[in-house]
Amino acid sequence: MNHCISTYPLRRVLLALTLSTLALASTAAPVISRLTPPSNPPSAEATALARFLPGQRFDLQATVSPDAGTSIVSFSFAVDGASLKPAPNNSAMLTTGLNSKLSDGSSTPANTAVVSLRAYANAIPGMHQLSVTALQSDGQKATRNGNFEVVGITRGGKVAKNIILLLGDGMGAAHRTAARIMVKGYAQGKAQGRLAMDTFPYTGMVMTASLNSIVTDSAPGMANYVNGNKANNNEEGVFPDDTVDAFDNPRIEYLAEYLHRLKGRTLGIVTTADVFDATPAANAVHTSNRGNGSGIVDQYLDDRTLTGLTVLMGGGRKWFLPNPSDKTSPQAINGSQRRAASDYVLPGDIVAGWGAAPGAKDPGRDLIADFTAAGYAYVSDKTGMDSAGTPDKLLGLFSYSNMNVAFDKINKRRGVSTVVDEFGFPDQPMLDEMADKALKILSKNSRNGFYLMIEGASIDKQAHLMDSDRWIEETIEFDRAVKVAQDFAAKHPDTLVIVTADHECAGAAIIGAAAAIMPPFPSATTVATYEAARFPKYTIAADGYPQTTDVPGRMLIGYGANADRYETWLSSDQPTQDSQQPFIAAPPLSNHPRSPTLRNAGAGFLITGQVPGSSAVHTATDVPLSAFGRGALLFTGTYDNTDVFFKIGQAALGGVR
Ligand SMILES: [Zn+2]
Repeated sequence: MNHCISTYPLRRVLLALTLSTLALASTAAPVISRLTPPSNPPSAEATALARFLPGQRFDLQATVSPDAGTSIVSFSFAVDGASLKPAPNNSAMLTTGLNSKLSDGSSTPANTAVVSLRAYANAIPGMHQLSVTALQSDGQKATRNGNFEVVGITRGGKVAKNIILLLGDGMGAAHRTAARIMVKGYAQGKAQGRLAMDTFPYTGMVMTASLNSIVTDSAPGMANYVNGNKANNNEEGVFPDDTVDAFDNPRIEYLAEYLHRLKGRTLGIVTTADVFDATPAANAVHTSNRGNGSGIVDQYLDDRTLTGLTVLMGGGRKWFLPNPSDKTSPQAINGSQRRAASDYVLPGDIVAGWGAAPGAKDPGRDLIADFTAAGYAYVSDKTGMDSAGTPDKLLGLFSYSNMNVAFDKINKRRGVSTVVDEFGFPDQPMLDEMADKALKILSKNSRNGFYLMIEGASIDKQAHLMDSDRWIEETIEFDRAVKVAQDFAAKHPDTLVIVTADHECAGAAIIGAAAAIMPPFPSATTVATYEAARFPKYTIAADGYPQTTDVPGRMLIGYGANADRYETWLSSDQPTQDSQQPFIAAPPLSNHPRSPTLRNAGAGFLITGQVPGSSAVHTATDVPLSAFGRGALLFTGTYDNTDVFFKIGQAALGGVR
């Protein structure tokens, strides 16, 4: 349904004004409670909250509540005073009678309308005034103003054809330091070697707040880097709205979509998480609910022509396996967790405006078969990945949900642990092995260049669980993937490599080392601080990981954002349970400690935390960013996470001299 405000004859306007003046006691003008993109408050109106690269697409939207007994009959958006006519491939839609609540929890006034103009773009650098005008059935109107900025590109430099963004989820400065101490060692005050990320020539500090909190989660934490705009927690690739549908929010074009549309660049996503997880999805999928797994993984495939998706590797097979009867409890027998309830169907104006697939509630979909039919080679373990060669496109799903962590994968390879067997996936690749495969495929098959996101996901997940040994080894694994990307960029100088985090996790800090003799716990272990901590020494095996983390005088980690936990200062043979895993309720997975609050209960001493629940939480602390290769010099200083997007845009489109 399209409505555009026509030009009214003057007499009719005067009549409407007269009528509305007469009716003033009983009717009021409509109220525009939201205009999207969001703007700064008027006091700061010289600056724009919403910023875009030239021609980057985004949706315009407003929430309009008519006065009682009336309705919204038409609306119009204007930029810089010129009314926007929907382009042939765009659309404008007015949705009335929403059966929903406003996002602040209040009820939607009767006949509240959400009006949208999809996939707008503006190529002219500078500030732009945005307005929306809505007309009520009794002739009264309301207008609301805002602004946005188009950030210009300086042309004429050498461009970065390939962009590799390595995202150490939750990786603050302490996580990097701990990995360096463990894997390189210190002596007489000096590190005996550098992590690959330490050797990057340019470093900055990133402010990580989201649109609605100083403390972000991974959805906007990633999306802010790759679309340049703040979003609310749990939202990826969209602005907030006032409807309950998680897939109809105003969209912002991602870096991958923008570069694919303009330059034919392709997209690779590699993660140790379930591929539906916030960080991978926030490169390609648009939703206000990061938990809607079925719809998220469907969009990877359905919108591949928008994103250029070429490589997708990680965990998450549970979303790809068919669940024809839409079973909800506990899960389908094959491990599938596809559900109609977490699937997507898009409103017609998004389909028309963006050229997106309409979607379907199809829990019975065999998504692996659909990927294969679309030309993706499919691999399910490391052996399959190694023998796949360099197909044009690759889907790799190495576990039901999040992959096992480096600590357990390496101990399996060493023959000293069966944890990965208990999950049913004994042959999972390491992140650096996946990164190497992804780069071989993308560089062979992507003549126009590519954007590759590589995530070390469980740095965050294990920091939440306050399992220090597991997140430190996870950071070591991540740095090995950094080295793979750095080596690629050294051979392909038209490549930019960025290493950063979406946020810090757990308020982790290296507080010292174990004093006295250990193991065994508990009698002799206390925290040695300052000079008593000396320099913890680990023996690094040929595989690049410590032979054991339980060495005398081992490094000890404290947490500033912690829940209650029992601490033994020793590694745990078993991982703490991951609620995302199917089959978690039955042995063998149910035998693993259920939470940090129960792990080591009776064995360790209780450290009381200050946050609710049983997991440590993210913090608002700035995170380091290191850059290597073409355009890396743009990344010095202290800047906002959204600034990273515009620096990438400059490197990718305008280049550097
Ligand atoms: Zn997290």
